[in-house]
Amino acid sequence: MNPEQRRVRDLVYATFAEQGRAPSPAELARRTGTSRSDTDRILGELADAHAVVLTRDGDAIRMAHPFSADPMAFVVTPRDGFDDRRWWGGCAWDSFGISAALGLEVQIDTACPYCGTHLSYAAGPATPPPAELAVRFPRPAAQWWPDVVATCTMIRTFCTHEHAASWDTEHGGGGYLAPATSVWQLAQPWYRDRLDRDFRPHTREHNQGLLDACGLHGSFWQLP
Ligand SMILES: [Zn+2]
Ligand SMILES: [Zn+2]
Repeated sequence: MNPEQRRVRDLVYATFAEQGRAPSPAELARRTGTSRSDTDRILGELADAHAVVLTRDGDAIRMAHPFSADPMAFVVTPRDGFDDRRWWGGCAWDSFGISAALGLEVQIDTACPYCGTHLSYAAGPATPPPAELAVRFPRPAAQWWPDVVATCTMIRTFCTHEHAASWDTEHGGGGYLAPATSVWQLAQPWYRDRLDRDFRPHTREHNQGLLDACGLHGSFWQLP
């Protein structure tokens, strides 16, 4: 990442962290003192590097993992009642990732896709979610990025392993069911450094090692 990419990328993440929203391209241009056309080019480069995700029309930031600009299935709220920030969690994994990146105890609200039950669970850097919760990954790691928003949309939390299994069967099978505690464990090293001043994108090998360490082996988890 070169310095101009770095400046835009860091401002995107800082705005998400502090305000729960994505800055617009015009705002990024103004705040970084860069022309609008250069800002659009830099955003395109960051999107190509998977550092941010742009909208389908390429005119705005859609996600900067673990943050989402648009409403998704998870609401992440600080457990500290005096902290009035809110974030959309793109998926079960990203919701834990927001807590990891911010070093924050959070409450996560979502609904089980199978039975519709409202799920509200606490999690934090040292606080795992309830053991009975399950997460379904809809498609293998090699297929995540061509439509990563759709991938995140489908990585959901279920009230039990049984409900995740029933949902998977009804949706063609082929998903991977993991305990939410494993996904929480994975989210810590995957996202913990995302807001660090000296953050460096992880290599594929590094991330493969993180998956391995959480027991996520085999062809399903082979990163592209
Ligand atoms: Zn359920
Ligand atoms: Zn996600």
